[in-house]
Amino acid sequence: MFKKYDVIVIGAGPAGCTAAKRLAENGFHVLLVEKLKLPREKSCSGILIQKSMTLVKQYYGKDIPLSAMCTPIENRGMIFTDSHGKEFRFEQEGRNIWRSVFDHWLAQQAVMAGAALLDDTMVTGCIESPGLVTVTMHKEGTSSFGAAAECVIDCEGVVGRLKRQLMKIEPSYIKTYQVFYEGISSLDPHYFYAYLQPEFSGYDAWFNVKDDMPVLGVSMPAADSVKTDSVIRTGADEAAICAYYQRFLSYMKENHGLCLKKKIREERWLMPQIKPGCPIDLGRGRVFFAGEAAGFLNPMGEGISAGMESGACIADAIIQTHHFKEIDKIYEFYEKNSAALHQYMQRQWRFLGEISSAFSCMKQ
Ligand SMILES: Cc1cc2nc3c(=O)[nH]c(=O)nc-3n(C[C@H](O)[C@H](O)[C@H](O)COP(=O)(O)OP(=O)(O)OC[C@H]3O[C@@H](n4cnc5c(N)ncnc54)[C@H](O)[C@@H]3O)c2cc1C
Repeated sequence: MFKKYDVIVIGAGPAGCTAAKRLAENGFHVLLVEKLKLPREKSCSGILIQKSMTLVKQYYGKDIPLSAMCTPIENRGMIFTDSHGKEFRFEQEGRNIWRSVFDHWLAQQAVMAGAALLDDTMVTGCIESPGLVTVTMHKEGTSSFGAAAECVIDCEGVVGRLKRQLMKIEPSYIKTYQVFYEGISSLDPHYFYAYLQPEFSGYDAWFNVKDDMPVLGVSMPAADSVKTDSVIRTGADEAAICAYYQRFLSYMKENHGLCLKKKIREERWLMPQIKPGCPIDLGRGRVFFAGEAAGFLNPMGEGISAGMESGACIADAIIQTHHFKEIDKIYEFYEKNSAALHQYMQRQWRFLGEISSAFSCMKQ
């Protein structure tokens, strides 16, 4: 009764688009489902580090389109201030992009490779029966409908509804709050600035510039559990995050010539809280996880490269296995393919733990 695919990929972010594109261009019958209408908004600093640029070239065979860029187009690296106020500079070439345009472009590449795309469609459930996964979907204004596949790649991002359903766990999250302004500062807009002083955040605070707009952000561990797909704005967290933000704003005004004319917009989002050792989860049965849904995220919220790479790793594992009879083999290949990515992530977090007392637990 249901339309049948080889693979259904859930979520058109960097992980889902890369997995869908790679599978489709290798002859697999793929459906990519995205709950929001594309181009969709995703709170992000929009910095593509050098690794992300290399992966775009490798997986997509093209340069990032100019339409996805914002000024200054060139990002020259990160300037990072540790918990004691000591500055570290990491110089490397990157790009400054708008996520909505960039991710839409990734999804278009998947479609051009042959993947079917359903946007504005939420996956609401996923049931595994022998040799098959049935996925239920809902599009506003229509009744629910289903599709079946040999397997599913869940790339839902941070608040994975399916992952929470499947594993019956409530992961820990970091809440983020960032604000775009009309204004100026004395900082070089070619850099991304991260601040780990405990008075400015319970995790990290940041500053960057997009199309001449100064952007300030703060973050902290979420005190309340996230029971729905919406980002909760509640009591204790709200007061604390606002207090961090006000202190950070004053600091930037006093120390970095920040002069603001007008608030343009504010964004609240979540990130996974990465634990010591960086545990990841590759899936359950015929449902594989990739990107943030699997737990891949580098320090300072750098997750676009990890999303694309893990999406490619699971796609390659399926391609290498050729068929869906031996699911264990797919896991074996996925683990092998993603080992270098996992080690990279562990090294990055360990390094952060070594240079910043705020993250000393990550040294393990
Ligand atoms: C404030 C902030 C700043 C950041 N800045 C940077 C940065 O500068 N550089 C960087 O590399 N990383 C940055 N990140 C991290 C980066 O955004 C993520 O790590 C990355 O987007 C993860 O990719 P993903 O494909 O796993 O998930 P996502 O990009 O989150 O994509 C998941 C997709 O799945 C869809 N979806 C979810 N549930 C369903 C469902 N049930 N059915 C259908 N679709 C569904 C969502 O709508 C979404 O489009 C930042 C994160 C935050 C919060």
